[in-house]
Amino acid sequence: MSVRKVDHLLIGGGLASANCARWLREAGGEGEIMLVGREPDPPYNRPPCSKGYLQGSETREDTWFRPREWWQDQRIDLRTRTSVTKLDVGAKQATLSSREVVAYESALLATGANVRRLNVEGCELEGIHYLRALGNADAIRADASGRRVVLIGGSYIGCEVAASLTLLGSSCAIVMQEALTLERGFGAQAGRFFQERLREHGVEVHGEDELERFEGSDGRVSTVVTKRGLRLEADAVVIGAGVMPDTALARGAGLELDEQRGGVLCDSHLRSSAPGIWAAGDIASYDSVVHGRRLRVEHWDVAFNQGRTAALGMLGQDAPHEVVPYFFSDLADWASLEYVGPAQGWDEEIVRGSLDEGSFSIWYLGEGRVLGALSVGRSQDLDHARRLIAAGGALTAPQRTALGDVDSGLDAVGR
Ligand SMILES: Cc1cc2nc3c(=O)[nH]c(=O)nc-3n(C[C@H](O)[C@H](O)[C@H](O)COP(=O)(O)OP(=O)(O)OC[C@H]3O[C@@H](n4cnc5c(N)ncnc54)[C@H](O)[C@@H]3O)c2cc1C
Repeated sequence: MSVRKVDHLLIGGGLASANCARWLREAGGEGEIMLVGREPDPPYNRPPCSKGYLQGSETREDTWFRPREWWQDQRIDLRTRTSVTKLDVGAKQATLSSREVVAYESALLATGANVRRLNVEGCELEGIHYLRALGNADAIRADASGRRVVLIGGSYIGCEVAASLTLLGSSCAIVMQEALTLERGFGAQAGRFFQERLREHGVEVHGEDELERFEGSDGRVSTVVTKRGLRLEADAVVIGAGVMPDTALARGAGLELDEQRGGVLCDSHLRSSAPGIWAAGDIASYDSVVHGRRLRVEHWDVAFNQGRTAALGMLGQDAPHEVVPYFFSDLADWASLEYVGPAQGWDEEIVRGSLDEGSFSIWYLGEGRVLGALSVGRSQDLDHARRLIAAGGALTAPQRTALGDVDSGLDAVGR
C-alpha cells in the first residue's frame, strides 16, 4: 500500500486543529499540512451553536473558522467527513477512514470532546437532543422553536439554549442538580444573578432536582419526570450534561492519559508522551506553568490558543503554553459573562461593582490568592485578574479591600 507523507498531520476538525494549521503557516512553516476531521463542515466555531446560529441570526458560513478557499490558498489538505481510525506512534503513521495511510513528521491530536449521554428510561424517544455540532443546532431549532422545551442541566449549555429558544418563542424549563444556574463554575452570587435574568424572561428553573425518566406517546417525548416527582410537559428536550474528552484514538495508540481529569497527558509545551505528537483543546491535560498545576479546560479560547502553542512547538520553537484560560457565555442579549481562571474551588468571593445594576466582577480567592474572576460588563478588570492569577501571591487585607472597591485602582494590587 502506498503511504502518503506529510510534515504535519492535524487530527480532529475543530478549532484547536484549525488554529494550529493557521499558525503553522503564519509562523513560517512551509511543509505539507493535512487536517482530518470527521464532520461535514470545514472547521467552525462551536459557541454560535447555542447562540447566534441556533437563534438564526448567524449563518453556517459565519461560524466557519475560515472560508473554504482559504484552506486551498494556504496549501492545507483539508479532509472533511474523514476519521483517523488508527494511529501508530512507533511508525509515525495514521490510517484514515478512506483507507489511506499517512506518515507524519509531527502530529496534533485535537479530537475534542463528546457529550455525556444520560441513559435513563425513555432516553430513546424522539425529540430528545444533545448539542455539540451545527447539525444538532439545526435539529433543535427545527424541533423546539415555539414549543414547550425542557432543558436538562443548569450549566452554560442549558442556560444559553433556554435563552436562545425563548427568543424563538419556545417556553423553556430547566431541571438541574444545582440550586442555582451556573453555580458550579461561578458560585451562588453569580448563579443567582443569571437565574434571575432567565426567570425575568419567562424561563422556569427547577433546582436541586434531577432527571428520573422520560415518558412519551407515539414514540415521541411528552413528559420529563424528575426525581422529586415533578412532571413537566415537553415537546422537546435538550440535554446539557457535560462532555467527555474523546480519547479513543489516543488510548488505542497507547498515549499516556490523565485518568483523573480525562484527556491526553501533556507537558507544559503540550507535548504528549509519544514523540512528535502534540495535543490541544478539550483533550489536552497539561502542566500549566502559569498556574503551577495540571489543567484540562473545555473553553473555546483555550482550544484557540493551544492550537497556536502546538504549532510553534511543531515548528521547533521552545513554546510553553502560558495563556490564562478565558471563557465567555451569552444568555441571548440578556446577560453576557466573561471569566478567567479556572478557580476550581475557592474560599472567598469579592464583588467589585453592583450585581443589582448588572455591572460587576467577582474575584475568586483561595487562601488570599486570586484564582479566577468573572465579569459582567467590566471586562477591564480581567487583565488585572490574569496578572494576579499568574503572579500567584497572597494579597494583603488592604489589597483585597481594593479589589472590592470600584473607586480604588487595581494597578497597585499584587505588586
Ligand atoms: C454548543 C456549544 C457552545 C459553546 N459555547 C462556548 C462558549 O460560549 N465559550 C467557550 O469558551 N466555549 C464554548 N464551547 C466550548 C468550545 O466550543 C470547545 O471547548 C472547543 O470547540 C473545543 O475545540 P477542540 O478543537 O478541542 O474540539 P472540538 O471542537 O470538539 O473538535 C474536535 C473535532 O474532531 C473530530 N474528531 C474526533 N475524533 C476524530 C478522529 N479520530 N478523526 C477525525 N476527526 C475526529 C470531532 O468530530 C470534532 O469535529 C461551546 C461548545 C458547544 C458544543
